[in-house]
Amino acid sequence: MNYNIALLKGDGIGPEIVDSAVKVLEKIGAKYNHTFNFTPYLIGGCAIDATGAPLPEETVKGCLASDSVLLGAVGGPKWDTLPGNLRPEKALLGIRAALELFTNLRPAKLYPALKGASPLRADIVEKGFDLMIVRELTGGIYFGERGRRDGKYGPEAYDTEAYSRMEIERIGRVAFETAMKRDKKLVSIDKANVLETSRLWREIMHEMSKEYPEVEYSDMLVDNAAMQLVKNPRQFDVIVTSNMFGDILSDEASQITGSIGMLASSSLGNTKRGLYEPIHGSAPDIAGQNKANPIATILSAAMMLRYSFDLSEEAKCIEDAVDRVLEKGYRTADLLGGSNETPLTCTEITEKILEEL
Ligand code: NAD
Repeated sequence: MNYNIALLKGDGIGPEIVDSAVKVLEKIGAKYNHTFNFTPYLIGGCAIDATGAPLPEETVKGCLASDSVLLGAVGGPKWDTLPGNLRPEKALLGIRAALELFTNLRPAKLYPALKGASPLRADIVEKGFDLMIVRELTGGIYFGERGRRDGKYGPEAYDTEAYSRMEIERIGRVAFETAMKRDKKLVSIDKANVLETSRLWREIMHEMSKEYPEVEYSDMLVDNAAMQLVKNPRQFDVIVTSNMFGDILSDEASQITGSIGMLASSSLGNTKRGLYEPIHGSAPDIAGQNKANPIATILSAAMMLRYSFDLSEEAKCIEDAVDRVLEKGYRTADLLGGSNETPLTCTEITEKILEEL
């Protein structure tokens, strides 16, 4: 089969890690007889430098015409002082909206081989954990009305959150279905003791839970969830939550796995076309030094094979290769946590993964 993949390398370590994932996809293509055609497009700071806009029209068109999209990361200090609508991060919100990607699936798995890298106490991570955060991606406060105005105490700024029944139901459906495919446990996280949007969210999730009697459903307030994630992450299987809470909790979940450089994500809508990206940023502090961990991007490519192209065997082949590389003790700098072992570079660990495929 032939698959057309739009590549959005972006800024910082983006080009390095996307190049690694492309090598892995090419090898998998050769092994299983698929052709992956890659077309690069500009996004983020590099797009601002070249065209003046963080998300050029050509990029949106190219992504819409592709079968799926692989993204590195955007942003960096060079563009930090630009006004809000010209910031590289604006492109992320823009491309998610243009592709109508309302779901973000973020797995957080503690690899047995990386137990030592987790900042949590050994007894907490002894048995590992494997959870999936289902984050709503195109609604809520990140897309609400915002602005500046004169307030009671002088100039003030405001952001607003709105969620419709339709938006909550469609993300709820993805979450319940995801739970059905895993351990059938779903926790919905909200702030229903304060926010009206959370109260509607909770009401609808409760209604939907009746359609899924096999799923053990519960609610949790976001402040408690932040604590429970570090106290007992094993209690979670699937988590569903709003855009902003999901943004924050998934970064917390990534940290307790040991490295932000390990975690993939996929953003999906109503079609098979998805946007696959590591959850970390552009890591400007190590950009261009061949130090980045490409595994999150490689695992994102594996998710693309599974969710966009229905190539589960090929996806598993990549995931197993990553497992074996870690079990053999190969580590990039971010996974060594201050030990004095010599880390592998981005290209070296990519080579190790290619050898295992
Ligand atoms: P970051 O994720 O880029 O980096 C945080 C820390 O983790 C840094 O020390 C970095 O070196 C390290 N790190 C991240 N990914 C790594 C990898 N693959 N291998 C090894 N180490 C890795 O977050 P930040 O520093 O807060 O943000 C830097 C820039 O990235 C900012 O401009 C921010 O806006 C942007 N950002 C982009 C995205 C995205 O493109 N999706 C997400 C978050 C942040």
